[in-house]
Amino acid sequence: MKIAVVSDIHANLHALEAVLAAIAVESPDEVWSLGDVVGYGAFPNRCASLIAAQVTVGLAGNHDLAAIGKLSIGEFSADAAIAARWTANELDANAREYLNGLGPEQQRPGADLFHGSPRDPVWDYVLSNETARESLVLTTAPIVLVGHTHVPLALAEDDGDLVGGIATDGATVELDGRWLLNPGSVGQPRDGDPRASWLLIDLAERRASFRRTAYDVEAAQAAIRAVALPDTLASRLSLGV
Ligand code: ZN
Repeated sequence: MKIAVVSDIHANLHALEAVLAAIAVESPDEVWSLGDVVGYGAFPNRCASLIAAQVTVGLAGNHDLAAIGKLSIGEFSADAAIAARWTANELDANAREYLNGLGPEQQRPGADLFHGSPRDPVWDYVLSNETARESLVLTTAPIVLVGHTHVPLALAEDDGDLVGGIATDGATVELDGRWLLNPGSVGQPRDGDPRASWLLIDLAERRASFRRTAYDVEAAQAAIRAVALPDTLASRLSLGV
């Protein structure tokens, strides 16, 4: 079985369409989304409807929950809060209904999925070896998938040590043992590579490969500026930060 994993789309329609086209070439059996479909970008409704149509398993992220009123915007940074309020006002009934049916964690055969981490599926950022190790201790599935940090990551347990780290374009890991994987972000990468990030898992081959897909960054930026969201949400896209 082949599974494409996406996360942190953040209403970036241009990035999402490019990634879905690249995924279609691989003909995966399933597509999984780890949450934050909306927030920051200019196209929350169209991203929600595309994800609803194409995804087998979908999680809610903190931005999704804030946009539908299930999470307080008070914990967001200033720009994120502005975007969350704009998104909440913009969401149509279909997008609201779709996001309302999602939770921040799910299990699939052989994989545990979280937006944040097993410690806190909504808010925890797995950015250190310590949080990665705890995430593996708290789960049992061979593959633990997390999003939320916008940084692609592959870490494995090997005789009590953690091996791996940030995963760059084309990085491939052999899925022996247990792995914690983060596909990175489709719509707002933060690892210095502005291209959209996603992950392809081949369970039969026991292999995961990290992919980057170029998209029309300038069009996504123009759309953010056209709806008068904070300019930093547009400018960061060309830097991948
Ligand atoms: Zn996010």
